[in-house]
Amino acid sequence: MKILLTGSPGIGKSTTIAKLLEGLGEECFGVVTEEVRVSGRRAGFAARDVKNRESSALLAHLTDIRSDYSVGDYSVDVSAIDTFCVNALASGKRGEVAIVDEIGRMQSLGMIFFDCVRSLFQDDDAAVLATIVKEREPFAEEFRSSEYVWEILVTIQNRDLLPPILTTLLLNRAYYTQLNLEERKRFLKLARERCEQEQWMQLRKLVTNALVYSAGRRYKKIGSNIFEVRGDHGTYTVSKDRYPHCICSLARGDAGYEAGECSHVQTLKVVGELDL
Ligand SMILES: [Zn+2]
Repeated sequence: MKILLTGSPGIGKSTTIAKLLEGLGEECFGVVTEEVRVSGRRAGFAARDVKNRESSALLAHLTDIRSDYSVGDYSVDVSAIDTFCVNALASGKRGEVAIVDEIGRMQSLGMIFFDCVRSLFQDDDAAVLATIVKEREPFAEEFRSSEYVWEILVTIQNRDLLPPILTTLLLNRAYYTQLNLEERKRFLKLARERCEQEQWMQLRKLVTNALVYSAGRRYKKIGSNIFEVRGDHGTYTVSKDRYPHCICSLARGDAGYEAGECSHVQTLKVVGELDL
């Protein structure tokens, strides 16, 4: 599972990462970038090790680094990126979530670091949560262009809604790895659409229930166009031919629900039995 957070500077990408780190507990490794402030003004950037929070390294500074490399007014210590950040990314165990905050201009100077990030993205079963520059920079394209990446634009409207949803999704990452590659693509396409259309309840149902049901193959074809989906609260019949497809309260808009696509229908979409 690969999640990329993007958005304008100061919109809340790092705050979102901080909330996710809280929700995920010990199951993460990697780096987060922090501002170094002197007398209330930004003087540079440091990287902090996610596993060993006491450990940090200065990456870029207005005055305190001598280097041939710079980004804007900041001199960049490329060797710190290629040692400290690389070691932090190497400290993870299989199954843990890699945190890469951020994939930016400064970090792109670290060739070894970028190779590490690249191999994480190429590993189908690795879970990666990263922030990335909003601009369409050439170094960023290789990470965001994949069908197996969910890039999320963080906005004022969604920044408080995303952390609980993404925490649940990352805690459910073992289910995601049980999906085949086609199912993963469909799952991520649904997630992107739900997010772009601000269908937060549907997105919650997708990451909380539909992911678990589809990974657990909790559905059965019982007629030419009829299925049963075994949810946590009962077994529901889903028909391709009628609308709404499912007989549950959410699909029909009963019991205080605003009618929408339920986890049962989304399950069948993820496994490819219903069209997206
Ligand atoms: Zn339903």
